[in-house]
Amino acid sequence: MMQPVLQVINLKKQFNVGAGWFGKAARHVHAIDGVSFELYAGETLSIVGESGCGKSTVARTILGLTELTEGEVHLDGARIDQLSRRALIPLRKRMQVVFQDPFSSLNPKMRVRAILAEPLRNFDLVKSEAEIDERVAELMDMVQLSRDGLSRYPHEFSGGQRQRIGIARALASRPDVIICDEAVSALDVSVKAQIVNLLQDLQSRLGLALLFISHDLAIVEHMTHRVAVMYLGKFVEIGTKRQIFGAPQHPYTQALLSSVPVPEPGAKRTRIVLRGDVPSPINRPPGCHFHKRCIYAFDRCSTESPVLRSNDEGHWRACHLDAVPKAG
Ligand code: SF4
Repeated sequence: MMQPVLQVINLKKQFNVGAGWFGKAARHVHAIDGVSFELYAGETLSIVGESGCGKSTVARTILGLTELTEGEVHLDGARIDQLSRRALIPLRKRMQVVFQDPFSSLNPKMRVRAILAEPLRNFDLVKSEAEIDERVAELMDMVQLSRDGLSRYPHEFSGGQRQRIGIARALASRPDVIICDEAVSALDVSVKAQIVNLLQDLQSRLGLALLFISHDLAIVEHMTHRVAVMYLGKFVEIGTKRQIFGAPQHPYTQALLSSVPVPEPGAKRTRIVLRGDVPSPINRPPGCHFHKRCIYAFDRCSTESPVLRSNDEGHWRACHLDAVPKAG
């Protein structure tokens, strides 16, 4: 059986927001509450959900930028969440990240050559300046930027070009996994499509595994293989693109998808308007955390938390209903 390149088991992250006054118990933000998934070479898994649902914290925790509270992270079968920073260095090159805002993630005082050379030196991947020249030129070709740009600064590029530089920097260490944390969210529609096409092209050429974190469902539908839908720190539905976009089985997924424009002219999707706001991750409702907003909620939903169960090959959902009515 094929081994996943990245495996996350029961990941939890709580942020302590301090003890209350007069001896009240400490309060916690439950940012991630028991998330598990596997990601395979050449695959794109997208994590979607409203802002604040915990999807970016999943990325930061996997990357070791935020310490996890509980759970395990495995890279190519080796557990990495317990490693020291030093022990993690040789493995870190195999998992890279592209952030939302390329302008703030690229050092404005460094020329592009220096930005791309930094990971090559940090991971000890080159022996000479000539090797650096060769490799940075190759990286510019891979992201379809002119080699002339190597002597320029980030501010001399457009937003889309800066994101290409961010991708080139992520590719420098020849990673197996790239985590794209809202990597195209800040870009114009046409530029978004170009960057997504570039990522797909690089994936098919290099066999990259992509963990694509986004709230933009139209883009996700265009480029993903599988989707995990997140609500208040938990996955509520996981399936293939066809299962999630073609036959969503969780009321929250149905509501999320109802707001995505349908590409075919004349086709309609009935908009499901969720009642109320997303509850606070400090005071989550008991039972199913979605029950106060769910149009199908019944007694059991307010007392018992539903577990993820599969009713179709590879299609998982956390809901007490055996069958959720099909969205209109
Ligand atoms: Fe709605 Fe109940 Fe299913 Fe939660 S468990 S999604 S409240 S029907």
